[in-house]
Amino acid sequence: MKNAELFERAKKVIPGGVNSPVRAFKKVGGTPRFIDKARGAYLYDAEGRAYIDHVLSWGPMILGHGRAEVVEAVREQALRGMSYGAPTEAEVLLAELVCSSFASIDRVRFVNSGTEATMSAIRLARAFTGREIVVKFEGCYHGHVDSLLAKAGSGALTLGVPDTAGVPGGIASTTAVLPYNDIEYFEKFMEHHGQDVAAVIVEPVAGNMGVVLPKPGFLASTRERTRSCGSLLIFDEVITGYRFCFGGYQDLVGITPDLTCLGKIIGGGMPVGAFGGREDIMALLAPDGPVYQAGTLSGNPMAMAAGLATLRTIERLDPYEKLARSMEELTGSFRDSAREAGIPLAVNSIGSMACLFFQPGPVMCFEDVMDSRVELYVRFFHAMLKEGIYLAPSPFEAMFISTAHTQDVLERSMEAARTSLLTLSGQA
Ligand SMILES: *Cc1c(COP(=O)(O)O)cnc(C)c1O
Repeated sequence: MKNAELFERAKKVIPGGVNSPVRAFKKVGGTPRFIDKARGAYLYDAEGRAYIDHVLSWGPMILGHGRAEVVEAVREQALRGMSYGAPTEAEVLLAELVCSSFASIDRVRFVNSGTEATMSAIRLARAFTGREIVVKFEGCYHGHVDSLLAKAGSGALTLGVPDTAGVPGGIASTTAVLPYNDIEYFEKFMEHHGQDVAAVIVEPVAGNMGVVLPKPGFLASTRERTRSCGSLLIFDEVITGYRFCFGGYQDLVGITPDLTCLGKIIGGGMPVGAFGGREDIMALLAPDGPVYQAGTLSGNPMAMAAGLATLRTIERLDPYEKLARSMEELTGSFRDSAREAGIPLAVNSIGSMACLFFQPGPVMCFEDVMDSRVELYVRFFHAMLKEGIYLAPSPFEAMFISTAHTQDVLERSMEAARTSLLTLSGQA
């Protein structure tokens, strides 16, 4: 009863009982699990139940929970002080690491969340270009920045309208929302409006409408058109940064954005975001330039310690190939079980991230995503939870694995999925 009790108490003092909406289980129903502790691949709730964690704090915990190197680094830093509001060597070390791993990043600034990173990158792009319009793609999420909480307007090639209460129409209309992976639509838009576009921001692999991979040529088109129109290209690599390799997804596809946003893995579980890129653009930031941007806790020593220890451990382990193989085995097994159960399942996956869409597929854009059968995901989610597997409490979120997801853990997950899918089809 502890989860339910805590949720009731939480709702009396926190809106909806949570500090980030998706945690409230609204999309799947039922009681959120209040987490007491986490270790390796497992979460433990307030009632002492263990779950294999496939959410991993929505991405950061690629080394699993409680990785010794990270915990030790944070512990040591805590003893030397938790925040100074003054520069530290750790910031320099992490910045050097980021700049050396991303070919496109000459200078980087640390903030406290992915949202702050995209918000600041956009301000910078607007200042650099002297233009207002920002292009984003439907289904991509860049944090809860006012101007990025826009959805497509009614007519083709029109500017955005607010996607949430509280965002002024005048702000949403500085954003144009175009379909992801639609090269022709994008090029037509840039032909008409390119001269007014400050920046195009894109998740190079979309990870917030489930997982949707870019079509061949889509990202190249964003690069070419922004260059020819004098607009900046911003890659939001908050999920993808350090997920597949040390240079970002941009390195895998050989595309150089002007600015890059990072978060999640670079904080190793602490609140960190970062934005960086070309020297001439970053030079506009205060204190050197006219674009104001600041943060009391930015570059916080605890966060830098967690980030540094995480990246150094990843560098040493070089776990990417093994993670990708493990994810292939896991999703391959999910597919087989779905086929056995006669349930339509399309799986998009890359490296340690994946998404299950209850539909025949293929899933290439936001419209495709919306063709999924949400009610099947909801039943699958609860069946898996009962089996001790924690999936995202919302259908269109990525699922992750970490280096702590050993073969044993993965096999438990595969068995649970088979049992759950057969239950769904009524064959069990
Ligand atoms: C998570 C995420 C963000 C927002 O990061 P927060 O730390 O939640 O503010 C921005 N962009 C992408 C691609 C993300 O996945």
